[in-house]
Amino acid sequence: MNRQITLAARPVGFPQESDFALVESEFAAPGPGEVLVRSHYLSLDPYMRGRMSEARSYAKPTQIGEVMTGQAVGEVVASEHPRFAPGDTVVGQLGWQEHAVARGSVLRQVDTSRVPAQAYLHALGVTGLTAWFGLFDVGRPRPGETVVVSGAAGAVGQIVGQLARIAGCRTVGIAGGPEKVADLTGLYGYDVGIDYKGDDVNARLKEACPNGVDVYFDNVGGALSETVFRRLAVGARVPVCGQISQYNLSEPELAPRNLGFLIVLRASLQGFLVSDYAHRFGEALPRLGGLLADGRLTYREDVTDGLEHAPRAFIGMLRGENRGKTLVKL
Ligand code: NDP
Repeated sequence: MNRQITLAARPVGFPQESDFALVESEFAAPGPGEVLVRSHYLSLDPYMRGRMSEARSYAKPTQIGEVMTGQAVGEVVASEHPRFAPGDTVVGQLGWQEHAVARGSVLRQVDTSRVPAQAYLHALGVTGLTAWFGLFDVGRPRPGETVVVSGAAGAVGQIVGQLARIAGCRTVGIAGGPEKVADLTGLYGYDVGIDYKGDDVNARLKEACPNGVDVYFDNVGGALSETVFRRLAVGARVPVCGQISQYNLSEPELAPRNLGFLIVLRASLQGFLVSDYAHRFGEALPRLGGLLADGRLTYREDVTDGLEHAPRAFIGMLRGENRGKTLVKL
C-alpha cells in the first residue's frame, strides 16, 4: 500500500493539520515510459501554501482530494523507461507520498557518490538555483557592495548569504530569534546577523550598512522589507524572491503606497521565478556542486521523520520553526 497526504480543505489564514488527510491506496505498476519510485526525502517549501489556495497564481491550485505537490528524491523500484533502472536515484515532482509513478521524461537522475541524495532538494536543487539566479542575475552584486538578505537562515537565504560573500560582498542577514542569528554569522558566514523579532532593525541596518544597501534579496516582504527599503543605496537592486510574511494573511496588506524612493535612488525591484531559468540550470549546478565539494558552501537541514508528520513540519516551517532546509524523511 502507498501512503499519501492529500489536500482535505482550503486553509483560511495559517493552514491547520485538519487541512490535510493521510490516505492509503494501492500503487499502480508503471506503464510505458513510466517509472515507479520509492521516495526517501520530501522537500517542504513555502510555494505549497499558494497551491492550497484558489487565488490566481503562476501555477494551478491543488484540488481537494489530490495529493499535495512536492519535490522528492528517491530510488527507482521498477522502470518502463529506457533511461532508468532499478536502484537509480532520481529527483522529481513526486508529491507528498511514499511511492509515485512518474513519467521518466520529467525525472532527473542524480549522482550520490559525493553528496547525499537530499542535497538535490536544496543546495543542488531548486533552493540553490533560486539563490544563484536571484542573486547573480537579478541582484547583480559587485565586489565590495553590501547585500542584505531577509529570511536569511532559511533554505534559500542560507545559500544567498554564502554566495554573496564568495562574490566579495559584505553580507547582512535578517532572521527571527537568537538561534538563527547565531547560525547567520557562525555557520553561513554573514558579516552581521539581525534578529527582526528582538532588534531595532532600522537602527541595526543603519549601523551595519553605513553606505546603504546595494542589493536586498527579499524573501519576506511586508513591514520588514519596508524597513530595509529605507536604507537602500543609489542604484540598489531588489530581487523579490518571496513574500512569506503575506502568505497566511486572510486580508492582503495595503503597502507599499509610496514608491518615490525608487525614483530618488534610481533603484529597481524585480520579481523572478526560478523556473524561468530552467534553460540555464546547467550553468549554475556544476558551480554550486564545485563550491559544495570544496567545502566553501555549507547548509543546515531540518529533517522530520515520517510522512504522517509532513503537515506539522510544513505548518512549522511557515511559522519559522525550521532551522535550515525543511525536509521529511520517508
Ligand atoms: P525558509 O526555509 O526560509 O522557511 C520559511 C521562513 O520564512 C521561516 O523559517 C521564517 O524564518 C520566515 N518567515 C515566516 N514568516 C515570516 C514573517 N512574517 N516575517 C519574516 N519571516 C518570516 O523557506 P525557503 O527558503 O524555501 O523560501 C524562502 C522564500 O523564497 C519564500 O518566500 C519562498 O516563497 C521564496 N521562493 C521563491 C522562489 C522563486 O522562484 N521566486 C523559489 C523558492 C522559494 P524566520 O524564523 O527567520 O522568521
